[in-house]
Amino acid sequence: MTLSVAIVGAGPAAFYTAEALLASGRVKIDVIERLPTPYGLIRAGVAPDHQSTKKVAQKFERMALANAVHFFGNVQLGRDVALAELRAIYDAVVLAIGSPRDCALGIPGEHRRGVYGSSLFVGWYNGHPDFRDLDPIVRGPTAVVIGNGNVALDVARVLVMSEAELAASDIPDYGVETLRRSGIEEVVVVGRRGPAQARFANVELRELLELDECVTLVDPADLPENTAAPIHAGDDRERRLIERNLTLFRQFSRARRDEKRKRLRFRFFRTPVAILGDEAASGLRLETMAWRDGTLVATGRFVEIACQTIITAIGYRCEAIPDLPFDPARGLIASDDGRIEPGLYVVGWAKRGPTGVISSNRPDGEVCAAQILADVTAAARPGRPGLERLLAERGIRAVSFNDWRTIDEAEVSAARAPAPRRKFTTLGEMLAVLNRRLDARDIPDKWEGTA
Ligand code: NAP
Repeated sequence: MTLSVAIVGAGPAAFYTAEALLASGRVKIDVIERLPTPYGLIRAGVAPDHQSTKKVAQKFERMALANAVHFFGNVQLGRDVALAELRAIYDAVVLAIGSPRDCALGIPGEHRRGVYGSSLFVGWYNGHPDFRDLDPIVRGPTAVVIGNGNVALDVARVLVMSEAELAASDIPDYGVETLRRSGIEEVVVVGRRGPAQARFANVELRELLELDECVTLVDPADLPENTAAPIHAGDDRERRLIERNLTLFRQFSRARRDEKRKRLRFRFFRTPVAILGDEAASGLRLETMAWRDGTLVATGRFVEIACQTIITAIGYRCEAIPDLPFDPARGLIASDDGRIEPGLYVVGWAKRGPTGVISSNRPDGEVCAAQILADVTAAARPGRPGLERLLAERGIRAVSFNDWRTIDEAEVSAARAPAPRRKFTTLGEMLAVLNRRLDARDIPDKWEGTA
């Protein structure tokens, strides 16, 4: 008895779920993805200079090439196929759709031009088709990144990268050009709490020491020894991680501002209260915070930073899907540890919120696979042939995994060394590669509108 499972989304949460399901030997899996490209945030979220992190895609590729797995790219839930239809076709449906929307700051001026949430800005510099036309205002001398998590660090680093560093990444040409012309000399990373509360990974922080053209600075007054900041560590391991970060912050606090051409400056204990300007942003107003009796309080003192580019990196939310339970406070699909109801599941950021690294999705996948195998005891639905029939009836030409490999090869062969690939950033470009291959074989079956 082979169960048919559809996984919607093709990012890490989808592949870890597929891995756990494949281990049972009882499941056929169709991965349904709206883009022609797999891997979700590995392609469009992980920073373009972090190519070693992206290598996990090789493991996912081996999985995608297994007989029991099929990739249906270029097929969008809600547009090409409804959730109810998928549920009628498959024994179980898993939503691995991430949390694609930026949290809002909720302060005046947030909608001025020059202010971008990290989902837009990261999508833009990573060549995601939805954001390649963002055309952001990226203008120096000072840009601000709000947030003290790893996304903020990625954004800040990209903003100060040298031409050589950019050339070794897979940032699209339009991004390189915009950054080159930006005139950015300083990036200020703003945190509402202190260095001991920041959520930066130590390796990401350490990497800042290696930047070609940029020195990293911290005001010594913000270090815990100079504030009344308590260090709340859940356990010894967390305490060691915080201490390792603090060692780096102390090192940054001793750096000279003119050591290199550009500066990345951490400003802690500052809460954003307004984005200044008219139609476009001209600055950011921050309120200074201070520790009083173990609590962080607003001091009523304000500082302003003149800047025309502000990126918020303060977390993400999922969008509500009609007829599905939604937790509006947390911005995620409500579930019982991933089970929405028997036959319908959610994994990854859409389940637990935007936390953790790529491999943090593995446990979700394992839980989900166990739930499916417990809930669905008999194969009762058509599975893959049912989806293929429905797509054929609607004239929808899905992109297979081998098609994606053709796109992948074309991107890699178009790269100028030392860049690892030259990404296609529109669906038209991606599908045209496939049409050219079909032309070469003289098969008249083309993707619509791309010839
Ligand atoms: P995050 O780690 O949750 O950080 C969000 C930051 O935004 C926090 O510093 C938070 O401050 C701040 N913030 C939230 N609301 C704010 C507000 N209204 N005003 C000012 N600051 C505000 O989220 P993330 O950076 O988006 O990362 C998401 C996940 O992806 C994380 O688990 C991260 O580790 C992971 N990731 C990992 C890597 C990597 O390993 N290389 C790279 C990128 C992302 P408070 O702490 O004060 O709430």
